[in-house]
Amino acid sequence: MAQISKNARGASSTHHFYCPCGGEIKMKTIFDSGKVKNVAECDKCKRVERRPNDFK
Ligand SMILES: [Zn+2]
Repeated sequence: MAQISKNARGASSTHHFYCPCGGEIKMKTIFDSGKVKNVAECDKCKRVERRPNDFK
């Protein structure tokens, strides 16, 4: 009866990124000029970069 989804695992990344200030970086989706963009924002200092890897 129970249905097991093959896609149940791996849907969300467990990767965490941290800003040099020590804050955790969160991914955000914003709308810019009618386009959807993903940006990374530090929870603490509110620094915004295009990708989490740019926080170095
Ligand atoms: Zn920061």
